Amino acid sequence: MSVVALAGGTGAAKLLRGLATLIPPRDLTVIGNTGDDAEIWGLHVSPDLDTVTYALAGTLDVARGWGLADETFQCLRAMATYGAETWFNLGDRDLATHLVRTRALRDAPLSAVTARLAASLGVAARILPMSDEPVRTMIRTPGGRLTFQEYFVREKSLVEVTGVDYDGAAAARPAPGVVDAIRSADLVVVCPSNPVTSIGPILSVPGIPDALRATAAPVVGVSPIVGGAAVSGPAAALMRMRGLEVSPLGVAAAYAPWLRRLLIDSRDGTHAGELAQRGVEADVTDIMMTGRERESALARRVLERR
Ligand code: GDP
Repeated sequence: MSVVALAGGTGAAKLLRGLATLIPPRDLTVIGNTGDDAEIWGLHVSPDLDTVTYALAGTLDVARGWGLADETFQCLRAMATYGAETWFNLGDRDLATHLVRTRALRDAPLSAVTARLAASLGVAARILPMSDEPVRTMIRTPGGRLTFQEYFVREKSLVEVTGVDYDGAAAARPAPGVVDAIRSADLVVVCPSNPVTSIGPILSVPGIPDALRATAAPVVGVSPIVGGAAVSGPAAALMRMRGLEVSPLGVAAAYAPWLRRLLIDSRDGTHAGELAQRGVEADVTDIMMTGRERESALARRVLERR
């Protein structure tokens, strides 16, 4: 069985860890968001790809939801003495990933470099960036445009957002393997990730929405919205800004017309009828992944009723 997952960062990491306990790693292909990639201290950082890779390698800092467990930040402190910007937390061991990636990108595309990093960390699942070309999520605010990391990490999502752009998307192509994986999948999973800044950039790459429409596989999502709010992060404000209702209905609207089933929380069970009218089957269950057991249970539910 071939399972393809569209993934952002922290929410996706939990579901992917659950899926990895149930299917052989070679059956899992992750298509990761690179819209929030950033250049920090001259290094190419791919936060969402790294979160997914570390999660599947079993080395993610689970409490934080990003970076490596048992990390230290000596280099960050040393950079501060040189007057470098230190709002983006790069851990000492995490730095090795960015050093290797940045050097390798001189000779190879991001997809090849991502595969090499995953293999080195013992991850057998296939992790594909959505594109080898740069697509950058830019946040429009009254004071000008910010990169996603400036908005999310430096400004802590506290500034008003007036729009979101995916710079470079029009000229980007899906990375090698992305379209084939979606078209030949037995199941496509849309992880519980920010619809605007994690899944949105993936869908901005020409060819990916067409593949989702064309695949014979059922497309199943897990709502990142529970009881009218995001479980974490700025998804609610960004959805509102996009004119999407902050509920499973807004999530379904973002993934129309190809989303077939959406796992929603029992608190949102009242939306089941309206989802059905829009052609999306509501699967009402506990969608909060509060520990390893819940991650596996939710993943089982995703796989169960194909
Ligand atoms: P960001 O934090 O908004 O930039 O987005 P990410 O795409 O990296 O992942 C966070 C998303 O995952 C948020 O929209 C959360 O609401 C969602 N999320 C996090 N933990 C859970 C969980 O346990 N269950 C569900 N259903 N969603 C979750």
